[in-house]
Amino acid sequence: MTGGANAMAPIVVVGGGIAGLATALGLHARGVRCVVAESAREIVPLGVGINLLPHGVRVLTELGLADALAEVAIETRAIEYRARDGRLIHSDPRGRHAGLPFPQLSIHRGNLHTVLYRALIERHGEDAIRPGLRLRGVERRGAFVHACFEDRRHGGELRFDTEGLIGADGVMSSVRAALHPGEPPPRGSGIVMYRGLTWAKPMLDGRTMVIAGVHEHKVVLYPVRPPRRDGLQLINWVAEHGERFGGDDAAGDWNRPVDRATVAALFADCRFDFADVPALVRAAEVCLSYPMVDRDPIDAWVDGRIALIGDAAHPMYPIGANGSSQALLDAEAIAECVAADPRDLPAAFAAFQARRLATANAVVLANRARGPEKLLQLADERLAAGPSADGEPILSSEAIDAVTMGYRRTAGFERESLEAMARRPRLWPQARTAAVPRSGT
Ligand SMILES: Cc1cc2nc3c(=O)[nH]c(=O)nc-3n(C[C@H](O)[C@H](O)[C@H](O)COP(=O)(O)OP(=O)(O)OC[C@H]3O[C@@H](n4cnc5c(N)ncnc54)[C@H](O)[C@@H]3O)c2cc1C
Repeated sequence: MTGGANAMAPIVVVGGGIAGLATALGLHARGVRCVVAESAREIVPLGVGINLLPHGVRVLTELGLADALAEVAIETRAIEYRARDGRLIHSDPRGRHAGLPFPQLSIHRGNLHTVLYRALIERHGEDAIRPGLRLRGVERRGAFVHACFEDRRHGGELRFDTEGLIGADGVMSSVRAALHPGEPPPRGSGIVMYRGLTWAKPMLDGRTMVIAGVHEHKVVLYPVRPPRRDGLQLINWVAEHGERFGGDDAAGDWNRPVDRATVAALFADCRFDFADVPALVRAAEVCLSYPMVDRDPIDAWVDGRIALIGDAAHPMYPIGANGSSQALLDAEAIAECVAADPRDLPAAFAAFQARRLATANAVVLANRARGPEKLLQLADERLAAGPSADGEPILSSEAIDAVTMGYRRTAGFERESLEAMARRPRLWPQARTAAVPRSGT
């Protein structure tokens, strides 16, 4: 990437987050030149925990990253849905524990990001990503896209033309703003998510995720790293509460710190036999807040030589753990479409949109309707209606299947889809069918 209005450049991927880095790896692996322009001056591991569903793990496995992920992730055994008082509603086996061909992984976002970043620079050199370039404006100019970046490392501006630009610049995407001027800011759900990481004794079997409570007052707990020598394990916790969040500008700021004592007091009722949430909050390494936001689905992610992927295309509530997995599916799809038609990027981008838009938009709406966490609401209503007969489960298996299977089909990680994906030809010669993370216990 060089300065000067007439300099030609390879495909530009704007944003070096999860979607941008995976796209760059996928394009390079298929012989397509690209460069990532990332706004942050330095690439540093950020965020707290994130879950990768089996279809997302498949994409990373295809990129040859299974072993690197295995070092730093937990293979999730099950998700336990629990009532406000901690009573078990349903234990849902995950990934290979459910007999699927790929695992579900719980991981620190910073570790996931580092695995992608290291792979990119080790395979394709330091110049594969340009930190400190913040997109300011993008314009269609005939057969080219003209992009203007603020150079946050050296000062000044960098302008250039490219034949194709992929906007992977997250929930506050500037590329999306250029394609859809006048779109309102992200839409709040009325829920604030307090998020943190705490070294603590392993919870349950050290490989289980717990979601307990109801939509407006809920905790999500899962380990993200194997235990260290002293036996403690890094537990990710998200404590969600219905309240107003100060300022619309809050969306996109993933690093807003919040007082631990305030959050601990808000969740004083969440002391369970498997986890003491207020204690986890008080002992947290980091404690952040973020509003649960999304955007209304749009029917155009592509305009000629410009395309949107990941959160820039379809920001969604982090319900059902689909945000990064859907972003990874986009990354794979756009790399495949471009590699299949590198001389006609508008056609390749249109093919990408045709392949991905309906599914990802459906997940946005399914998450708005609470996705698999509808189970919590159903169970709460059932429990409020009075005691059930001895031995009778809170919810019937039919009611549970209707919610969980429907969501899997919408998001594309039901057994049939995953088994069909596992039969596809391998991109990366060493790609195995699944990552094998070290066991949590
Ligand atoms: C710092 C950070 C921390 C996060 N922490 C968590 C977390 O703890 N848990 C969780 O579930 N999700 C987290 N997320 C969001 C999560 O990564 C995404 O929801 C999901 O993985 C989809 O990824 P994405 O690449 O589309 O978006 P993101 O991962 O958000 O990546 C977008 C990238 O674009 C860059 N960017 C933005 N604007 C511009 C611009 N104008 N020019 C150039 N680059 C730009 C950003 O710096 C970022 O690197 C975090 C995102 C960020 C940026």
